[in-house]
Amino acid sequence: MNDTREPCLPAHLEPPQHILVDPEVIHSPITARVLSRLPGIPWSVCRNYQEKLQKHGPGARILYLKNYKGRFMRFCPGTSRYHCCGYRIIHIGENCPLNCSYCILQAYFQDRVLKVWANQQDLFRELEEHLADKNRLFRAGTGEFTDSLALEAITGYTGDLAAFLGQYPNICLELKSKIVDLGWMSRVSDPARVLPAWSVNTPEIIALQEKGSAGLQERMQAARECVRQGFRICLHFDPVIHYPGWQKGYALAVETIFDYVNARDIAYMSLGSFRFMPELEKILMHNHPGADYIYNEFITGLDGKKRLLLPLRLKQFRFLARKLKNAGMGTNMYFCMESEHVWQDVLGYTPRDLGGLDNHLLRLSFQADQFSALKA
Ligand code: SF4
Repeated sequence: MNDTREPCLPAHLEPPQHILVDPEVIHSPITARVLSRLPGIPWSVCRNYQEKLQKHGPGARILYLKNYKGRFMRFCPGTSRYHCCGYRIIHIGENCPLNCSYCILQAYFQDRVLKVWANQQDLFRELEEHLADKNRLFRAGTGEFTDSLALEAITGYTGDLAAFLGQYPNICLELKSKIVDLGWMSRVSDPARVLPAWSVNTPEIIALQEKGSAGLQERMQAARECVRQGFRICLHFDPVIHYPGWQKGYALAVETIFDYVNARDIAYMSLGSFRFMPELEKILMHNHPGADYIYNEFITGLDGKKRLLLPLRLKQFRFLARKLKNAGMGTNMYFCMESEHVWQDVLGYTPRDLGGLDNHLLRLSFQADQFSALKA
C-alpha cells in the first residue's frame, strides 16, 4: 500500500521529490530517521548517481543519502594572501535548500542535489582519531558546504554530532545558519562548547538576496533563547553588500542585534565584504537577475577573488565597526579575508597584535577558564 502521509516540514524546506540512498547506508540510523521524517516521499537505492540524476532531470528536488568516502574533517579552504581564521570544517553534506543569490556553492558544485553523508559512524570514527589527544584544541563547524541547520528537521544530524562531541572537552563546535532550528539543543551536554551562530545582514538583503532564510528578528530571537539556555553565540556580518541605502540598513541591523543580545553574549563576530571567485559572476547573473550588487565596482584581489574597491570597502567597514564598538564589541571582532592594512585602519589592531587570528579565535571560542584548564 502506498504511504500517503505528508511530511511536516518547516517553511524553509520543500519536501524532496525523491530520495536516493547509497546501498551501504540503507541501514544507517540517519537513513532510518530521514525516511521516517519524510513519509510518502518515494525513495530508491542509488547504484549509479549520474544515471539517477538524468532520470529525474536537472531541476528535480533530490535528497541524496550518501556513503561519503572522503575526509570529514579539514581546514577551511580560506584564501591565499589574506588573514584566515584557522577554522576546521566538519563535513556533513553538500548543498543547501536556501537560495542566497551570492551563494558560492553555486560555483563549487555541479548540481543542486542536497547531499547528506549518511555514514555518520565513519565521521565519528575519524573525529575520535583527531580528538584523541585532549591537549590539542579545535574550533570547528559544519557550515561551510551547507548551512549547519537547514536540513536538521529532516536529519537530526547536528543533534547527533553535538551529543557525540559532548565527550570531548577539546573541541568547540560552531553551528552557522540562516534559519532557526533549536532542536539540537537538548542533545548538548556542555553549552560552553557549542556556539550557535547566525549570519546577519540588513532586512533588505535578507528579504531580497537570502530567499528562504529566517528574518533578522527571528534569528536574533533564537540567539536570545540560546543565551538564556547558557550558550554564547557568534554573528557574522558576511557578506556586507554595497547597495543604495546601505547605511540605513546596516544601522538598523546593528540596532536589531543589540535589542536581543548584549555584546558579552557574543563570543566573536566576523565582518566580510562580498567577494567572489570570477566563475560565480555569470552564474549569479543568470540565476538571480535581480541581484544588482554584482554590477558594483570590483577589483581582483591578490587571491584572484573579486572584491569591492578598497575605499568603498573601508567606508562600509568603518561605519559598521563604529556602530559595533559603540554597542560594546571589542577585539572579538575580526575580518574574514582582509589585509593587515584594512584591520589596522578599521579596527585599530591586526591579527599579529592578537597573537595570530587562529589562536585568538580559539581562545575566544572556549570560555576563559576552560581554555586555561585545557592548556595547563
Ligand atoms: S544559507 Fe549559506 S549555504 Fe545556504 S544558500 Fe545561503 S549562502 Fe548558500
